[in-house]
Amino acid sequence: MNNEIIIAKNLTKKYGTLLAVKNISFKIRKGDFFGFLGPNGAGKTTTVKMLTGLTSISAGKVKIFNKDIIKDAKFIKKRIGVVEDISNLFPDLTVYDNLLFMAKAFGVNYHTIREEIMNYLEMFNLSNKIKFKFLSLSRGQKRIVSIVSSLIHSPEILFLDEPTLGLDINVRNKVHQLLLQLNKQKNITIFLTSHYFEEVEKLCNRISVINKGSLIFDGNINKLKTLFPGDKVVSIELTKPINEAKVSKYFAHFKIKKNKLSITGDDVTVILRKIDKFVKDNKLKIKEINTEGNKLEDLFLRLLKQDER
Ligand code: ATP
Repeated sequence: MNNEIIIAKNLTKKYGTLLAVKNISFKIRKGDFFGFLGPNGAGKTTTVKMLTGLTSISAGKVKIFNKDIIKDAKFIKKRIGVVEDISNLFPDLTVYDNLLFMAKAFGVNYHTIREEIMNYLEMFNLSNKIKFKFLSLSRGQKRIVSIVSSLIHSPEILFLDEPTLGLDINVRNKVHQLLLQLNKQKNITIFLTSHYFEEVEKLCNRISVINKGSLIFDGNINKLKTLFPGDKVVSIELTKPINEAKVSKYFAHFKIKKNKLSITGDDVTVILRKIDKFVKDNKLKIKEINTEGNKLEDLFLRLLKQDER
């Protein structure tokens, strides 16, 4: 299909005897917001580096814009933006000079880019740092400037390796807003690695999971949910202790600890409806209620557990 903008086929990376990425294949369509998840050391950064031509490929192929990442590296690199896990900006140059350098390197007219640079920096309250050396910025500020530097040449695809690591919640939300805007309004394809599940759930329409170098899931959160239909848990804390005999009239699978009750079932909505009836019938009051099982974090942990078996 011609809207497949990134194609990885049997991609493999060896570092000496270590197989960091094992024969993985996936296709990403133009306009996708792709979330690449996996535990530490799973092979995410290595994959990003192979996709962006930053490290050699031991076996397999990468095609971007239907061109080969090795043979057509120059063509591809002009059209993609990369935010690496570790910044590649010059520590001794100022923020502004770093951004101008990037603009020049990509052949962008740096007279017209000035306003765009200022807009981005103002968005993150960093315009007062424009004349500061990059090395003098805080870790979070460096990350923002790295993100801005990847946007200077208006890329069609953005690769972001843990872009919001260590950012405070307000700044993280601003980054999310910006990325969603770029994706939805400018149809920029985004490849994101992250350890923040709420972030991936909020932003990505596609999710892949890598574990020990192998791809163990490719789809979206709804597909992931269908893999684990049972095991939804709703926990409630009541204002007084509960009688087990009474509870057993309403629920088949549950655990009681004083005034805490955990109910297991296939469907959270059904469990909640039964809880409502149980509470009303017995004139009880709920202090706190929590549901588990449907969140990306729970599904991810189950997927890894399943892969360990
Ligand atoms: P994290 O979430 O911790 O950033 P990751 O999924 O990005 O992890 P990678 O950085 O891709 O994982 O690393 C995958 C494996 O390859 C790890 O075992 C790592 O030690 C190894 N590795 C990565 N880079 C190199 C390198 N330059 N030389 C040797 N081994 C490497």
